[in-house]
Amino acid sequence: MVEAEESYDVIIIGGGIAGLSCAVSLLRHFATGPSGPVSIALVEWQERLGGRLYSCKVGDVEADAGAAWVHGVDGNPLIEDGWIGPEDLVPSSAQNIWLHGPAETDSCSFKASEEDETWERRLAVVGAAASMAQGGRSLQDGLLETEPIMGPLAHAERRRLRMLEGWFGMSADRIGLLEWDGEHGSMGDYPGAHAVLKGGMRILVERLANEAQRLGLKVVLGQEVCAVEEVRDEVRIHCHQRCFRAQWAVVTVSLGVLQSRPSFLQLPEKPLQRLEMCHYNKLLLNVSESAAARFPVFTDLVSHHFWQLFNYWPLTGKPLLSLATLSAEAEKLTDEEALEAACGLLTLAKHEIRASHFTRWGRVPWACGSYSVSSKDAEWDDIRALLLATEEGRIKVAGEHTHEEHQGGFHAAYLSGKRAAQEVWEGFQAVA
Ligand SMILES: Cc1cc2nc3c(=O)[nH]c(=O)nc-3n(C[C@H](O)[C@H](O)[C@H](O)COP(=O)(O)OP(=O)(O)OC[C@H]3O[C@@H](n4cnc5c(N)ncnc54)[C@H](O)[C@@H]3O)c2cc1C
Repeated sequence: MVEAEESYDVIIIGGGIAGLSCAVSLLRHFATGPSGPVSIALVEWQERLGGRLYSCKVGDVEADAGAAWVHGVDGNPLIEDGWIGPEDLVPSSAQNIWLHGPAETDSCSFKASEEDETWERRLAVVGAAASMAQGGRSLQDGLLETEPIMGPLAHAERRRLRMLEGWFGMSADRIGLLEWDGEHGSMGDYPGAHAVLKGGMRILVERLANEAQRLGLKVVLGQEVCAVEEVRDEVRIHCHQRCFRAQWAVVTVSLGVLQSRPSFLQLPEKPLQRLEMCHYNKLLLNVSESAAARFPVFTDLVSHHFWQLFNYWPLTGKPLLSLATLSAEAEKLTDEEALEAACGLLTLAKHEIRASHFTRWGRVPWACGSYSVSSKDAEWDDIRALLLATEEGRIKVAGEHTHEEHQGGFHAAYLSGKRAAQEVWEGFQAVA
């Protein structure tokens, strides 16, 4: 069948937060700049916007099945830019609990201990060594090297490590040691409290989408893009039975999608394949109020499949528990098996569970994993290599995997969208 063709000045591929922030930013540039209005379209595979920001119903409770935490409120760009206000936020810990452990006031299954001090010093030693390390080494390797001087990891340190693994979405033997270096480490956050959104991530997606559409964005839903190529002075975006042409394009599809489709967009293969999508998944349980009241906000879990429990009840009054799994293997569990394992672990009776939802992000074809991490196979400049490859051309890349400092978080995706908008804007001015 002949492909139907449509032309725009700019096409953004992917309607997650990177695509939406790119759209808003670009439309604002053009609304106030000298070039006058341009046509901008966003092409999204799903029938909804938001991507891995995904609020869904678990029984009668709305839950975030993708991102949930605002990782640090001080200086966070989504707050600074006014997309999230203080009234939207409920702090869940006074600081990054995965990295720094609980503060006095945090509701957590373990309290600060003397061994935490050793843990912090151990991490500092690992960080210092990381700056001189070669690729191919893991956080586990770095920690093992501290043992001859600092002794084996104490019990409290092991609990901290497990929480940390929960943040990175992978076990310490996969987390890249380079990730740990203070200067180059890329799993960034912001200082201050970590928080969840009272209204869920849905409100953030709605705000961005409404503003983009108010400014004139054309949204095309339900179109799977198969390939993006630059041909002479234009970009062609091929869908199954439709072809879009544009002067500029921004590709915001996930790292997992790019990795699984080598012909989607020409990018340097080795850096692309060395970065890794983790398998952080959630078993979301809508439980009875009395069951929810039994748990603190954070509980570290030691089980084959589950790493931590997060309880919304003390924060938002929603009787909702979220258990995290980190392995690709856990995605093979059936809903019943996952539920059974969780009930056993938390000693929950079946009648206390009203509804459940188990995510398997590795099997979602438009995501192919949860979020990107520089795992032990990655090298310093892998993310930069992806950006450099698109520096000169008319196709730009954005998405959480393209932000060197904050890779993995939705604030990274947001910032990367703004960066790509700036690049397109400058390119547009240069040829205008
Ligand atoms: C379980 C889970 C928990 C998380 N927790 C947190 C957290 O607490 N805090 C935090 O900061 N971050 C968290 N994250 C990460 C965060 O969700 C992501 O960093 C962010 O949402 C990524 O946004 P994005 O726009 O880069 O990508 P996406 O949200 O993946 O958007 C890309 C869009 O492109 C579309 N697309 C893909 N392929 C095609 C194609 N071929 N054609 C057309 N469209 C296509 C997709 O449908 C999608 O809508 C979590 C993620 C997961 C999965």
